Amino acid sequence: MNTFSIAIHGGAGTLVKGMMTPELEAKYKAALQLALDEGYKVLENNGTATEAVEKAVVVLEDSPLFNAGKGSVFTATESHEMDASIMDGKTLNAGAVSLITGIKNPVSLARDVMEKSEHVFLAGEGAMQFAKELGYTLEDASYFYDALRHNQWLEIKDTDSFQLDHAKKKDSKFGTVGAVACDKDGNIAAATSTGGMTNKKWGRVGDSPMIGAGNYANNKTCAISCTGSGEFFIRGVVAYDVACLIEHKEMSLEAAANEVINKRILEIGGDGGLIAIDTKGNIAMPFNTEGMYRASKSSTGMEEVSIYK
Ligand code: ASP
Repeated sequence: MNTFSIAIHGGAGTLVKGMMTPELEAKYKAALQLALDEGYKVLENNGTATEAVEKAVVVLEDSPLFNAGKGSVFTATESHEMDASIMDGKTLNAGAVSLITGIKNPVSLARDVMEKSEHVFLAGEGAMQFAKELGYTLEDASYFYDALRHNQWLEIKDTDSFQLDHAKKKDSKFGTVGAVACDKDGNIAAATSTGGMTNKKWGRVGDSPMIGAGNYANNKTCAISCTGSGEFFIRGVVAYDVACLIEHKEMSLEAAANEVINKRILEIGGDGGLIAIDTKGNIAMPFNTEGMYRASKSSTGMEEVSIYK
């Protein structure tokens, strides 16, 4: 049996020790632990990597603490537009959705795009129509309402600025979410889900639903889920770049992930981090910000839940 393992993230950003109350910090850690345990349980019970990453991301989407699903940030029109993607490293099948509203678990819709349609990426109204045809019910706006998120939006709503959930503000919450896993058969998968940026407009889409940018999985190399300044992660084709360094330069998972996050993406001005896994269950979780909500667990007994450097 292969070593099986899972890693998750809840966003990277200006997470400085002492900035959060101990109570809030405990809440974040508990939410990460729950998602980690739920994803790990799937692997333990012989589930696939794809099932495990979906499960872990669903738990994170259901938490108001992270910028995905329930905790999604507000757009310029005071709504929520969510993006998500999932990829299976064994088959290279992938599914993604963007600009969707009212869906409780965008990652599950992304998985349905992968498994129940001939397509990879559905956006906006069309994606909503697809969800409707599959029988998804919609949550109303109150489900996604969070006073803190709403205040973040009120502060910048009449300006042209849009704000990463990572912005350098004392009260900012962070949090695109993602998971990567390696199952007992040595297959890997990645999933990512986000509400994007506060006050975003014009149908702005970040890296999270873009296969190769914010999310990627290939048994030949690695599975990756990113978080950070999406525009830069798209231009850096970050997730695929890590895979390329492994495939073409024969770098280790750790070295490749570090090269991209601590050198290549920094050179073009991007900040953030990623989680990475390979088919041997090795994990890397580099970030170039002060912190990244992250956790990992392996059948070797390794377990970690961390926020700061
Ligand atoms: N990468 C996400 C985006 O640009 C944001 C995040 O990671 O929090 O939409």
